[in-house]
Amino acid sequence: MPTTLILGASRGIGLELARQHLAAGERVIATARGDEGLAALRALGAEVLRLDVADPASVSGLSWQLEGEKIDTAWYVAGVMCRRTDARLPPARLEFDRVMHSNVLGAMQVIPLVAPLVEAAHGRFGFLSSTMGRITEVSGSNAWLYRTSKAALNMAVASARHSYPKALFVLLHPGWVRTDMGGPQAAVAVSDSVTRLRATLASTLPHDNGAFFDHDGSRVAGW
Ligand code: NDP
Repeated sequence: MPTTLILGASRGIGLELARQHLAAGERVIATARGDEGLAALRALGAEVLRLDVADPASVSGLSWQLEGEKIDTAWYVAGVMCRRTDARLPPARLEFDRVMHSNVLGAMQVIPLVAPLVEAAHGRFGFLSSTMGRITEVSGSNAWLYRTSKAALNMAVASARHSYPKALFVLLHPGWVRTDMGGPQAAVAVSDSVTRLRATLASTLPHDNGAFFDHDGSRVAGW
């Protein structure tokens, strides 16, 4: 039975990933940082781990909790939006840390612990990014800090994959999705987004290593 690990699964896209991977008959290990998220995941049938990706002590606990695992599919989903201010206002220090720690530091802390387990299964590691983090085509400066964090995540992943040649690392944009982050006006239902994300990651081949995919499965060019 394939094993899937979902990092940041208490709600939204992560919770739906857990639901769909379980429905596909897979073993799912899913993380949340709060009791409510852990209970929701347990109710679905997932094995749960408490994890705050922004907290180094919490992340270091992952190494023994996952010891000996072979992970066929891993997802880094955890992410936060910033106050949607533009570049006329500097980010406050606390806001900078909140966003960069969850969106960037978290991934950079988790990769060295999880990627070897993905390599052990010759598996795939998908990272939820955003086309708002592209540098080649920047449509505005709204959500300035969030854009910066996703651009940094993109580089962290594109660079890290060279250290783990037996795993496939892929960045994915989920679309504008109706979740707490995307809001009720968003264009894409979470179930549709996740169906496409799963199909896209599952279809990746060695030449896709380090690529960035849009929610329709096409490659994001020149990011
Ligand atoms: P939600 O706001 O609905 O959910 C965010 C998830 O990330 C929650 O499970 C949250 O946990 C978790 N999380 C945040 N910070 C941490 C942390 N420090 N440690 C552990 N978990 C954490 O967002 P979405 O589901 O919409 O987004 C998922 C990913 O997709 C994000 O990375 C986002 O940037 C990206 N994305 C989303 C888009 C959209 O339109 N929705 C568009 C483009 C990208 P908790 O419940 O504890 O807060």
